[in-house]
Amino acid sequence: METTVIFATKNTSKIKEINEIMADLGIKVQSLAEAGVDIDVIEDGATFEENAIKKAREINAVTGRLVLADDSGLEVDYLSKEPGIYSARYAGEDTIYHIKNQMIIDRLEGVPDEKRTARFVCAIAAVFPDGSVVTKTETIEGMIGYAEAGANGFGYDPIFYVPKYRCTTAQMPSELKNRLSHRGKALRAIKGPLEAYYHGANDGNENNE
Ligand code: IMP
Repeated sequence: METTVIFATKNTSKIKEINEIMADLGIKVQSLAEAGVDIDVIEDGATFEENAIKKAREINAVTGRLVLADDSGLEVDYLSKEPGIYSARYAGEDTIYHIKNQMIIDRLEGVPDEKRTARFVCAIAAVFPDGSVVTKTETIEGMIGYAEAGANGFGYDPIFYVPKYRCTTAQMPSELKNRLSHRGKALRAIKGPLEAYYHGANDGNENNE
């Protein structure tokens, strides 16, 4: 039975993180490059779920294999949930995060703690070889800080402050971030449906946190 699935990303650090989370299922996750697929899927959906499904469907249509895809981003409540699905493209795809982060801090100038709420969202879609689709969406809640802090992680991590841990996600060791994060939770949630497919086991809901 096939135990290798494709994850529709070119980001090798994501693949590493995903393989760590999937290791106990005995499933190896391949990047698009490892699977020999070279397709750019246009992310023009209106939601994280739509984008994740679109990516996974297009790669499944080409390969006929089980494909996982994610779409994630930062929602800042005070900014009407911007940058949302445009997180990677906010202020331009090539703009460095130090600048994107400062722009968000500046847009929240004078905004008090209680109105600085934000979340990272991650939708993961699994498209099975028969074309059926399962999605799981998870979040991590936090606040936009007043300055960047921390050097771990990537993207908006240095300004994403998690009050319970009194630090940003960029100040967390990767094991802690994986345990708490939107992506970690969504990946663990999708394990049930994958396990059911491979081992004919549970209903797919028992791995939700
Ligand atoms: P995508 O899901 O790869 O399309 O990218 C989503 C974008 O959202 C990233 O480029 C980051 O800007 C942001 N993002 C998603 N997850 C995280 C995270 O865990 N930390 C920091 N930024 C994130």
